[in-house]
Amino acid sequence: MTEIRISGGAVHDPANDVDGDVRDVCLRDGKVVDDVGPGARRIDARGMVVMPGGVDIHAHIAGPKVNSARKLSPDDRRDDPLDRSEILRSGTGGLVPSTFATGYRYSLLGYTTVVEAAAPPLAARHVLSELRDTPMIDKAFLILMGNNQVLFELIRESRGAGGAAGGRVRDAIAWWLDATGGYGVKLVNPGGVELWKQNNGVVESLDDEVAGFGVTPRQVLEAIGGAVDELGLPHPVHIHANNLGVPGNADTTLDTMRTLSGRQAHFAHVQFHSYGGKPGGLPRSRAPELIEYLGEHPEITADVGQVMFGPAMTMTADAHVSAVLRDLDGGKWLNHDTEVETGCGIVPYAYRAGNYVHALQWGIGLELFLLGKDPWQVMLSTDHPNGGSFLSYPKLIRLLMDRAFREDQMGRANQKAIRRTALLDGLDREYTLNEIAIITRAAPARRLGLRHKGHLGVGADADVTIYHDLTDREEMFATPRYVIKDGEVAVEEGELRRSGDGVLLSSRAGFDPEVSRALEPLFGDRYTVAFEHYPVRDPALREPAHVVEAGA
Ligand SMILES: [Zn+2]
Repeated sequence: MTEIRISGGAVHDPANDVDGDVRDVCLRDGKVVDDVGPGARRIDARGMVVMPGGVDIHAHIAGPKVNSARKLSPDDRRDDPLDRSEILRSGTGGLVPSTFATGYRYSLLGYTTVVEAAAPPLAARHVLSELRDTPMIDKAFLILMGNNQVLFELIRESRGAGGAAGGRVRDAIAWWLDATGGYGVKLVNPGGVELWKQNNGVVESLDDEVAGFGVTPRQVLEAIGGAVDELGLPHPVHIHANNLGVPGNADTTLDTMRTLSGRQAHFAHVQFHSYGGKPGGLPRSRAPELIEYLGEHPEITADVGQVMFGPAMTMTADAHVSAVLRDLDGGKWLNHDTEVETGCGIVPYAYRAGNYVHALQWGIGLELFLLGKDPWQVMLSTDHPNGGSFLSYPKLIRLLMDRAFREDQMGRANQKAIRRTALLDGLDREYTLNEIAIITRAAPARRLGLRHKGHLGVGADADVTIYHDLTDREEMFATPRYVIKDGEVAVEEGELRRSGDGVLLSSRAGFDPEVSRALEPLFGDRYTVAFEHYPVRDPALREPAHVVEAGA
C-alpha cells in the first residue's frame, strides 16, 4: 500500500473551487483520500504548484494514420532517438513519436490521460495494439462515424420512420462502441469525405446530398448527434465540421452548431473552422463571432487547435484537406481509404510566422483563447501533431499567461495578419494558474465524463502534477518537479522513475442485440472483413480497461 502526502503546495483544483490554497493532498491505493498515516511518504511541495494530471481531449497518438506518418517522416525521427534503460524501452521522438516515447513524453509533461480523437473502427485492433504499447497514460479513442456507408443506409431508412428504425442508428452506434472498445463518437467532415472519395466532390452546404446514399451532412449530424445524446454516452458527439480550412467556413461552423442546437456537442480544433472571406480568397478572422455564439450556448464546448510556428504533421480523416495541403506544399503526401468507413490523408507541414495565412491561424487561435469568457468551454489543444507537437503546450501556456511574451511573438508574425485579428485591440488578458488548470485538465475531464479525473477531491484518481512556481511559465510547464500516476511517483526531476501501463478508457451503452441482424447483411455487401470477425474481443487488447457506463 503506497501512501503519499503532498504537503504545503499551492493547490489549483478548479473543479472543487480550490484556487491556490496551501493545503495537503493525500493519496492511497491510487486514489485521493482525506488523510494518510504517519508512515506515508511526504513530498515537500512548499513553494510549488499542485494540479491534477493533465487531460488531453484531442490528439492523434495511435492507429494506422499515426503509424503511416511515422513511416513518412524518418528524417524527423532519426535525430531524436530514445535509449532504452533499466525501466524504459527505446524509441524515437520527433513530431510523431513511437508508442513508448509518446507515453513517456506525455508523462514528462505532466499529462496522465490522452484521447486519440479519430480512429477508424475497422482499425480498432491496430489502435488498441498501439494504445496498449503507450505506457504511463490512461487513454481512450473516438471512433469515426461521419462517413460510414452502413450508417448512411440506416440513417436514410430511419428518416421519417421514427420509432424502431430511428432506434436502429442508436443501437448500431452502441454496437460499434462495444465491438471496438471505443470511448466516444467522432464526426469528420460528415458526408464530405465520402463525396471526395467518390469523385473529389466537396460539401458546400449542409444540405448537399451525399450521392448514392440519399442523406445530407445535416441529416448525419442530427441522426448521430441525437443518437449519442439519447444513449447518454459520457462524452457528447465530437465534431470536426465540414469545410476545414476554407475561407468563409465560419458560416458552415455556425450552421453546424445551430443544427445541433440544444444538444450537447464538442467542436474540435475550432480555430481551423473560424474563417471569414470567400473560398479561394484570403481568409479573415471570425473568431469573435464564434466565441459570441459559444457564450450563448453553454451546451457546446470546443478545443482550439492552436497552430504553433514551426514544423507539424497534418494527419486527418478529412482526406480532401490533405489533398489541398499537398497542392500548396508539393511535398510528401499519403492518401488512404478505409473501405466504407472513412478516408485519411497525411502531409508533413510547417507553419511560418511570416506567412499571412499561418500568422492569421496563429492569431485566431489566440483570439479564441483570449476572447472566450468561460475557460470551461474553450480547451487547450494543438490538434497534435496537426497544429504542432504536444511538446509545444508549455509555450502555448506561456503565450496565454504572459502578455509581454505574447506581444513579442506577435511582433515577429506577419503584421497584415495580426492587424486583422483582435489581438492589437488591447487584448491584455493573462490566464491565471487556475484558468490553465481548467483548460488543460478540469474542463477536458468533465467534458469527457471522466468523473475521477481532472480534480483532486476525495475519490479522484491519484494523478497529480507538481510544478516549480517559475516566472517563465514555459519552463515551468515543460519540466514538472513530480508527476504522480495512480498514486505512484512516475516522474521526478524531469526523469521517469517507473513505467506503468495505464488503462484503456471505454464506454458502454445498452443496445438491442437484434441490431446485428440489420448490420450483418449491410456488412456482407460492403466490408472485406466478415461481420463475425469485425468485433475485437481479445482481452489482451482490451484490458486493463476502465469502462464508463452510459447514463451513469
Ligand atoms: Zn484532430
